[in-house]
Amino acid sequence: MLGKRPGRELWGTRPPLDKLPGVSNESRAEVLARLPLRDNLRGSTPYGAPQLNVPVRLNTNENSHDVPGDVVAAILEAVRQQARHLNRYPDREFTDLREDLASYLGHDLEPDQIWAANGSNEVLQQLLQAFAGPGRTVLGFTPSYSMHPIIARGTGATWVDGKRGKAGQGTDDPNQFDLHVAETVEQIERHRPAVTFLCSPNNPTGTALDLEVVKAVYDATDGMVIVDEAYAEFARTGTPSALNLLPGRERLVVTRTMSKAFALAGARVGYLAADPAVSDAIRLVRLPYHLSSLTQAAARAALWHSDLVLDTVEEIKAERDRIVTAVTELGLRPAPSDANFVLIGGLGDEQAIWRSLLSRGVLIRDVGLPGFLRVTAGTTGETTTFLDALADSLLDVSGGKVPTLA
Ligand code: PMP
Repeated sequence: MLGKRPGRELWGTRPPLDKLPGVSNESRAEVLARLPLRDNLRGSTPYGAPQLNVPVRLNTNENSHDVPGDVVAAILEAVRQQARHLNRYPDREFTDLREDLASYLGHDLEPDQIWAANGSNEVLQQLLQAFAGPGRTVLGFTPSYSMHPIIARGTGATWVDGKRGKAGQGTDDPNQFDLHVAETVEQIERHRPAVTFLCSPNNPTGTALDLEVVKAVYDATDGMVIVDEAYAEFARTGTPSALNLLPGRERLVVTRTMSKAFALAGARVGYLAADPAVSDAIRLVRLPYHLSSLTQAAARAALWHSDLVLDTVEEIKAERDRIVTAVTELGLRPAPSDANFVLIGGLGDEQAIWRSLLSRGVLIRDVGLPGFLRVTAGTTGETTTFLDALADSLLDVSGGKVPTLA
């Protein structure tokens, strides 16, 4: 059953402008058309993963587990201590948080190699404000994280959709989303990007990247190389992080987040590791005091309890592997996953399956790839509900029964 909230509509993958609640819908689009908006933003669509009030929400790769009680207590105490000092601006350099993040990451990283912001999205935005912008090209390899092009265009840069896989690979090839050295390097030489995005494990495909590709990309460009490792903690055992490659590579940046494994999506904390000069570049564009003292305190309290917070990671990985096995038994084709989600192929009419799942109270992600849907690995209960609903939805759709959503 779908939970209904007054005024909350069911949108597809994104809310069309004329469906936004509020003032007269038609005039809103017309007013937008009249506003002196930047030319390169005209006709583009905002990020719009649906936020719907349904029982099982597996569409934004959050950690489905609540923050453990001891961590809640530590966060509350840390925030309480800060509350008294909210009359003052926060530490603009978030010195203590950088120290805690450096020791969490290991790899002999020094605090001045760390930078943090309100979610890794803001870290990426700051990086692109410093290194992209008008007249510069940003290259990423599609399909990948949908915010990379949005953030790039937001700085006025030109986005180039690079390609994954090898020429001649079929759409049923499980390795069709891998990046290969020769094909990747050729695209870099062709487009000469100021910034190249890699994503490992890649969202939405789930697979981690061979470090040989990262090295080859770095050597092929004189621009910045960003490896987005938002899901690194979920990688299968033995998967190396690009953090290993930082020594001697001053244009390489590895970004991470506390939104996924750390179950702190609501706190908005992301960070990067790189040469200290990269932070100096970001200092030229960041807003002063961008990371509130409450955010810094909450993040530090969670980091002090990282063992407790990360306990859920093993459980989530087990659920991810259960999804891979179960959907394979249903005759579907999951991509190999190092993340807390699985990209499932072989679905045929993926939009009908998506709607059918939603009518059963299960929200997953339509990432715009024909025949594929992406599901987050949640709790054991959520996985079971999803798998049961998927089996029923497959039967419904093959039998021609597809609910339409009001
Ligand atoms: N990178 C990737 C690959 C992601 O999937 C996400 C969130 N879905 C982010 C970065 C941004 O996460 P946040 O801003 O919450 O750190």
